[in-house]
Amino acid sequence: MDTLDHIAELLRKASYAVALTGAGISTASGIPDFRSPDTGLWTKVDPMKAASIDAFLEDPIQFWSFYRHRLGSLDSAEPNAAHYALAKMEQSGHLKALVTQNIDRLHRRAGSTTIAEVHGSIETGVCLSCGRRYPHSHMVEALADPEGVPYCECGRVLKPGVIFFGEALPQDEYALAVSWAQRADVMLVAGSSLAVWPVAGLPDITMRSGGKLVILTASETPFDSRAAIRDQRPLEEILPRLAALLDA
Ligand SMILES: [Zn+2]
Repeated sequence: MDTLDHIAELLRKASYAVALTGAGISTASGIPDFRSPDTGLWTKVDPMKAASIDAFLEDPIQFWSFYRHRLGSLDSAEPNAAHYALAKMEQSGHLKALVTQNIDRLHRRAGSTTIAEVHGSIETGVCLSCGRRYPHSHMVEALADPEGVPYCECGRVLKPGVIFFGEALPQDEYALAVSWAQRADVMLVAGSSLAVWPVAGLPDITMRSGGKLVILTASETPFDSRAAIRDQRPLEEILPRLAALLDA
């Protein structure tokens, strides 16, 4: 029996399976992850300059000179077979909810609907003065001018709705993720190295409530020895096969 048959069996028996995804699920869409040697984003760009709240506050216009490229490359990426497979598993009822650390909107674009984006997303721009939120299109329109940056109508430069280093997680999204983790009898980890807190605490919450952990991340994780099933093959290969098994 292939490990995928075991995972399919677990998911068929589960009454509340939850997926937890990280950067590894989007690398096949051409979005670099953060920490892989050589290709990881933070091996090329200093995160404290590119994605910290301090850098934004210090010089928001300079900040956008980097982030406009990041937003452009995220917008041109397409969901891959792994994103579509998870959406299909939600539609077939085998997955109840999805927690993601990714800010790229690819799960939504693939059709997943019950999502907690615990690191925020590029879906909106937010004003740190008055709290107004603007749609993605507002940022894109402003950035169409090579010198342009997106502004709030109160006059302040907008921040992407992404959680940066030094910022607190969005409490409502994180509370949702915790409640799903408590309720989950299976947590399917896909493409997260479970290294970033507090998201890295979610598998513990599931296991303490008696749930099982399935880890489908290429790199090692601190939870590998406690996982019921471990598979390190490429997600865009195994998740579609898993979705097909569940459909059969
Ligand atoms: Zn404002």
